[in-house]
Amino acid sequence: MHPFWRGILDLLYPPRCEACGLLRREPICEECRAAIELVRPPVCEVCGEPFDPRARGAPTCARCRRGGQRPFSVARSAAYYEGPLAKAIRRFKYEGQLVVGKPLGAIMVEGLAGEAAEGLKPETVDVVCAVPLHASRLGERGFNQSEVLAEAVAGAIGKPLKALLERTRPTLPQVDLPAASRAGNVRGAFAARLTEVIEGQRVLLIDDLFTTGATMRECARVLRRSGAGEVRVFALARAAPQWRRPGAEMRAHAREQRVD
Ligand SMILES: [Zn+2]
Ligand SMILES: [Zn+2]
Repeated sequence: MHPFWRGILDLLYPPRCEACGLLRREPICEECRAAIELVRPPVCEVCGEPFDPRARGAPTCARCRRGGQRPFSVARSAAYYEGPLAKAIRRFKYEGQLVVGKPLGAIMVEGLAGEAAEGLKPETVDVVCAVPLHASRLGERGFNQSEVLAEAVAGAIGKPLKALLERTRPTLPQVDLPAASRAGNVRGAFAARLTEVIEGQRVLLIDDLFTTGATMRECARVLRRSGAGEVRVFALARAAPQWRRPGAEMRAHAREQRVD
């Protein structure tokens, strides 16, 4: 764009950081980016649940040791859903701020290169696939946030991005549901597409959030049933574990200080 028009547009719509709302050139400003922490080891080697580094324990979490067969072999997330990242994701997803997709994709790529994502080496991936939105939701939002992120990942590791899945019925947002209802909400909601290319492929499945993992499990199940050789999952963010969350006093303090 010509600098003149850029100047006019900046006057009309001054660019702001989507995380802190301050007038900034970048959609996630330097200060906010510095406050976003990537997931670091130790993590459960299966589901990627972050362990308290002060505690010593087994390489897998109690849930993974108990649980039987899982449709995905490895799950990892780039960062914690908290602070400026949580705000930027909400602006991206619920307020249609596509502009923040690029820095969020970059955070994902950084997370993928990090130590905590060692189970997701690019050479173990044949094809990248995003968790799809239902056509009605896609119509409302105008873009699939997971596909924007998956594009960044696929580009970074030099693997093709393919729409191997579709959402055949609308589902309620998982975040609005109690953990116990999430598996039921997404059961049977996905179907495989391009089944002729899924056979034997090692799929890297991408979503924006990993909460209980119910959506990823359902998608992975459909891919495996359609012949995928292996499914690994990678999310931009996951809920911060209990041991990371500040205590009640700190929360009260934050409210007083209005730093949230
Ligand atoms: Zn900011
Ligand atoms: Zn685990």
